[in-house]
Amino acid sequence: MKSFDALGLSGQLVEAIRLLGFETPTPIQEQAIPILLQGKTDLVGLAQTGTGKTAAFGLPLIQLIDESNRTTQALILAPTRELSVQITTDLENFSKKVKDLNIVTVYGGASISEQIRKVKRGAQIIVATPGRLIDLIERRVVSLSTISYVVLDEADEMLNMGFKDAIDEILSSTPDEKNVWLFSATMPREVREISKNYMSNPQELTMGERNQGNENIDHQFMMVDDRDKYLALKRMVDYSTDIFGVIFCRTKIDTQRVADHLMKDGYNADALHGDLTQAQRDRVMKSFKNKTLQLLVATDVAARGIDVSNITHVIHMNLPDEIEYYTHRSGRTARAGKKGISLAIISKKEMGKISQIEKTLKRRFTKVLVPTGDEVCQKKIMALTQKMRNVEVNEEEIDSFLPEVYHELRDLSKEDIIKRFASIEFNRFLEYYRDAKDLNKSGSERSRVFSDDGGGAESYSTGDRIFINIGKMDGLEKGDLLGLICDYGEIDKAKIGKIDLKGAYSFFELEKDVTEKVMKGFEGIEVRGRKVRLEMTSNAPRERKEVGDFPRKRRSFDGDRGGNRSYGGGGGRGGSRDRDRDRDRGGSGGRERKRW
Ligand code: AMP
Repeated sequence: MKSFDALGLSGQLVEAIRLLGFETPTPIQEQAIPILLQGKTDLVGLAQTGTGKTAAFGLPLIQLIDESNRTTQALILAPTRELSVQITTDLENFSKKVKDLNIVTVYGGASISEQIRKVKRGAQIIVATPGRLIDLIERRVVSLSTISYVVLDEADEMLNMGFKDAIDEILSSTPDEKNVWLFSATMPREVREISKNYMSNPQELTMGERNQGNENIDHQFMMVDDRDKYLALKRMVDYSTDIFGVIFCRTKIDTQRVADHLMKDGYNADALHGDLTQAQRDRVMKSFKNKTLQLLVATDVAARGIDVSNITHVIHMNLPDEIEYYTHRSGRTARAGKKGISLAIISKKEMGKISQIEKTLKRRFTKVLVPTGDEVCQKKIMALTQKMRNVEVNEEEIDSFLPEVYHELRDLSKEDIIKRFASIEFNRFLEYYRDAKDLNKSGSERSRVFSDDGGGAESYSTGDRIFINIGKMDGLEKGDLLGLICDYGEIDKAKIGKIDLKGAYSFFELEKDVTEKVMKGFEGIEVRGRKVRLEMTSNAPRERKEVGDFPRKRRSFDGDRGGNRSYGGGGGRGGSRDRDRDRDRGGSGGRERKRW
């Protein structure tokens, strides 16, 4: 294996990255850096995330940028704001002791005026998401006429996210003589087309086999009933005492729901998805990065490309339809040579997907069992014992307090004292796991939407289905309707299942025990001048019920809520204050009424 010195990088740059802990180049760095340093080649790099590709293109780029020329010389496009910010941070870290470079990040969902100001001050490198960049080009803030290098990072994902037209538009407004460096984990036809249309004789590098994934990831699955997935997740988290993980859900609503359940159940968790404001996302990412947050519950898109070191587990609450998504998800762990676990919590019907992934990745999954209640308790008590054994005792300062403690405990034997100390923390688990069922085998059918202990985060198809006479035509989106149901029904959003938004009407599912309350809560409500009417639909075996004919209190929905679309109270888009407030209240009940 070569060293960084042998790749053609300047001594200063090698020294700078050595200080960051980069001793030897990763395979993609070893291959790409000498090629890119020539500054005259187009390149297609087929590389998984976590392979060190940011430095593979970032280091040559830093070396090639002319520090004395203040025009924009390089453009890096990335699919998400998180990845853009991360690339910028990496480039700044690589370059700060070497060159005085202006690197500016632009992405949607944040103040454009601030970004305009930064670009206008001079940006030698712009790191951008495609949509916001187009906006800035149209406002004539960014000009690509002086660009020498364009990097497309995670090109497949940008195309998946519908940025094809934006990428075409951006690339066609750059000078012909630029170089394009494209990195992608997969090589679908659309990515090939970009390389055909905008690159000339690109050099191609493939890191490992396509889609093969990272060797250091231990792929596991556990099989449970759909409705037990949340319980299985909790057991895993309780069992894996030092877990620091990302939990993936398929939809934003599921993501928020699982995070809310975990928070309510006392776990150190939070959600990351596209319905949060940029400030909320930044706050969540920051606390995850500095490890004050232990469990990040995320959608595929929001967690795309995030690079946080030492993630021990990636947990899939369901398997994604696209195998590439599985690779991207699991690539959040086992980064930079570390080991990690990618655990899929699946139901029987997802078994087929496991075989597909095994075939594509050429990796075997290990079937693991959900720990029993006894096993969790055993693990917990041993962890507690080790913590007690390893605790650092401040002999000097504690000494003066001890005589009173000895006196207080004088009649207890050593065994009694140990038992009592252990019980302080242990009782909670013992209580919770007493008579806990074995989740590995199917339980009897239950006709409830969620289980009492927060289960069912994934299953919500057997509750009541309610018709409501408002929908898209009233300017509502799913989140709005969710907010209205939470607010008027005074229920936690975890009680709400699938929302099916139609034109003039919609349907939503409710846990049976709150149906009555929600029906009542909507009595007399008007939305945009329309009296709201709720009805039980026929799949629910109970009397047809209507409300809304007897307006009691009139409340109105003005439909124009400005930029902040928070519906508060555990809602996915609630402001951070709302979210914190909810956490204090344990996630449900006592919900503040919102003005609509
Ligand atoms: P990336 O694929 O660029 O997201 O990089 C994955 C992780 O590997 C990041 O945390 C990098 O800081 C780290 N990394 C990249 N190159 C090296 C290297 N040569 N030695 C050690 N760590 C590296």
